[in-house]
Amino acid sequence: MRLLSLTTRIFNLSVKYCQGIPLADESERRPYNEPVKCLVVALAIACPATATFAADRLELTTTTRSSRPGEVVVITATTPEPVDEMRARAFGRDLATFRLDANRWQSLVGIDLDTPIGSHEVTFEGLSAGRTVTATMTIEVTPRKFATRVLTVNEAYVNPPDSEIVRIMREAAELAHLWTESEPRRLWSDGFVRPVPGRANSAFGSRSVFNGQARQPHGGADLLSPAGTPVHAPNGGRVVLARDLYFTGNTVVIDHGLGVFSLLAHLSVVDAHEGDIVVSGETIGNVGSTGRVTGPHLHWAVRMNGARVDPLSLLAVAGARTPASR
Ligand SMILES: [Zn+2]
Repeated sequence: MRLLSLTTRIFNLSVKYCQGIPLADESERRPYNEPVKCLVVALAIACPATATFAADRLELTTTTRSSRPGEVVVITATTPEPVDEMRARAFGRDLATFRLDANRWQSLVGIDLDTPIGSHEVTFEGLSAGRTVTATMTIEVTPRKFATRVLTVNEAYVNPPDSEIVRIMREAAELAHLWTESEPRRLWSDGFVRPVPGRANSAFGSRSVFNGQARQPHGGADLLSPAGTPVHAPNGGRVVLARDLYFTGNTVVIDHGLGVFSLLAHLSVVDAHEGDIVVSGETIGNVGSTGRVTGPHLHWAVRMNGARVDPLSLLAVAGARTPASR
């Protein structure tokens, strides 16, 4: 696997507002908080704010193994001068950003499994002392061909009995809600690690046919490890769920902060409690075969700003040792 690291084309580089910029004559100062929109085409001339930002480049660089659905893109925004805040937006949602150092900010961007093929705009906006610097780039999402997996499991996991329907719906709603409430700060540090040493089997996004019936595509990576193998936290975070769920069996969900979550499923034993703070590599349970499975393995799913992404993609671009094995 070859990592792509490229400087993206910046289609729009501008100082958007010149709010709060000192003018030569104090009497000319505009009312506080009144934004004055600058024309992009007159970048260095028409707007007083560009006097201080004329040499500025809000530069966006990306690291990704591809831009197909299910992939993670790491975007780094570099400014020549420190900014107080960095906002980012893509795929119709706000992205979490975090400061790397004085002049660099970063965002992990997930391309959801169902993202339409085509051009998707990503916008970054740095704010400092009432001034805004923006840069826009495009992610070209390319087609991905998914394999189909045909599995035979206990019939109760394909056509659950009526008595379980309420539970299944409740658990689906709970999980959907979990992804919307993340710690507003980064709880992970350094690179992500494999939760078990086993190799990955069934690929992320595979179309799944259980007992002859089509079901949701596979939303994670299956890591083949013997029953009883300790399962490690892929990175630091807060345990936000640690209990038995109908389809995923004994399950632990870790909120890594800033909208990044790990779900670890089918455990034989859960060794974590909701509310626990875990560090990278900490044991949170053992590999098992609870829930909808054909045998012992670890199912690891990652959510990122609501997007379903391949954990192996996360390891490849933000792993402790890249490129990660897979
Ligand atoms: Zn799985």
